[in-house]
Amino acid sequence: MIDLASLSPEEILAFLLENYDKKEAIRPFFGDEIFRWIHSRWEYDTSRYSNIPKRLRDFLSNETFLPKISAKYRLISRDRSEKLGVELKDGEIVETVYIPFRNRATVCVSSQVGCRFGCSFCQTAKMGFRRSLSPSEIVSQVYLFLKEGNRVTHVVFMGMGEPLDNYENVIKAVKILNNPLGLGISIRRITLSTVGLLPGIKRLINEGMQINLALSLHDPIPEERQRLVPAEGRHPIKKLLPLLMEYYRRTSRQVTFEYVVIEGINDTPRHSRQLTRIVEGLDYKLNLIPLNIPGMDRKTWHRNKAVVLQFKEMCLNAGLKNVTIRLSRGVDISGACGLLAGRNRRDSNQRR
Ligand code: SF4
Repeated sequence: MIDLASLSPEEILAFLLENYDKKEAIRPFFGDEIFRWIHSRWEYDTSRYSNIPKRLRDFLSNETFLPKISAKYRLISRDRSEKLGVELKDGEIVETVYIPFRNRATVCVSSQVGCRFGCSFCQTAKMGFRRSLSPSEIVSQVYLFLKEGNRVTHVVFMGMGEPLDNYENVIKAVKILNNPLGLGISIRRITLSTVGLLPGIKRLINEGMQINLALSLHDPIPEERQRLVPAEGRHPIKKLLPLLMEYYRRTSRQVTFEYVVIEGINDTPRHSRQLTRIVEGLDYKLNLIPLNIPGMDRKTWHRNKAVVLQFKEMCLNAGLKNVTIRLSRGVDISGACGLLAGRNRRDSNQRR
C-alpha cells in the first residue's frame, strides 16, 4: 500500500501508470486532480473523488492509503494560539501549534515523534526519539487547522523533532505545501529550524530553495553551547558558519539565529562579544527568546523577559544590529518554544 498524500502530482500519475491495469483509462491530469483532492480540498476519502472514474477510485481505495490523523486534544491560549495533540495512525502523538498574530497565521509543525538531539531546555528531548513523520503526516497537521476554517500564511518547522534529521520527508512536505495545486504557500514563508546538522545544511544548499533557515544557536561559545545543544559535538559551530555563509550566498535569505536567553548561563558581555564574531559577513537576525519552563508562574515569566531585555541591550552595545525579541506565544498551553511534548493517551483523554 502506498501513502497517496506523500506523493507529488507527477508521482501519483507515475504510480497509476505503473500499477493500474487499464492504463489506457489514465488521463494525464489524473495526477493533478487526485493531488488537488488531497491537498486543496483536504478530502481523504478517495470514494468521493467525483471527477475520477469509479473503477479507478476503487483501485485507490484498495491499493493506497491516506494518513489517519486526528486531533486528540486541544488547548487554547489566552493569546488565541491553539495547540493540538495530533494522534497518528500508530497511536503516537505529536503536537502542533496555530499562532494567529496580526496579519500572519502560522502553523508550527512537528517533524518527528520525540527527538534524538537532547537539548537541555527542551521538553521534546525528554521523550527520546520514537520515529520520523512521513510527508503526509507533516502536511496534514496544517490541514487540520485549515479544515476548521482557519487561514494559514506561514509554516514553521519548529515543533517536535529536528527537521534535518528527517530530511527527505521534510523536503517533500515543503514541496507539497508549496505546490500551487495544493496550499501554494510561498517557500519564503516556510522556515526550517535546526540545531545545525552539517550534512542536512549541505544538502539544503544544493536544493536551490529559498527556504528560511533558523539556527538554534543558544550559545556562541562552543564548549558552553555543547551543554545546551549536545549536537555541537558532532556539528560544531566553526564548521557550520561557512555553510551558513554559503547558504546565504546561494539563496540571499537572511539567516536567523535563535537564542534562548538563560540567566547566568549565556547572557554575559562575553557572549554578546562572541556573537558579533559569529554573525560577521552574514545577513542575519538574532532572535532572543525568553526561557520557557513548564508550569512557569507569572513572576518567573516576567523575570525571564527582563533577562532577555537586558541581554538585548548588551548585544546592541556590542555592535550587533538586527536583534529582535521573540516573545513566545501559547506559554499558558505549553505551546511555546521548547515546551512541546506529546502527552500519552491517558493524559490526552483527560484533556479533551
Ligand atoms: S530543541 Fe529541537 S533539536 Fe533540540 S531536542 Fe528539542 S526538538 Fe530536538
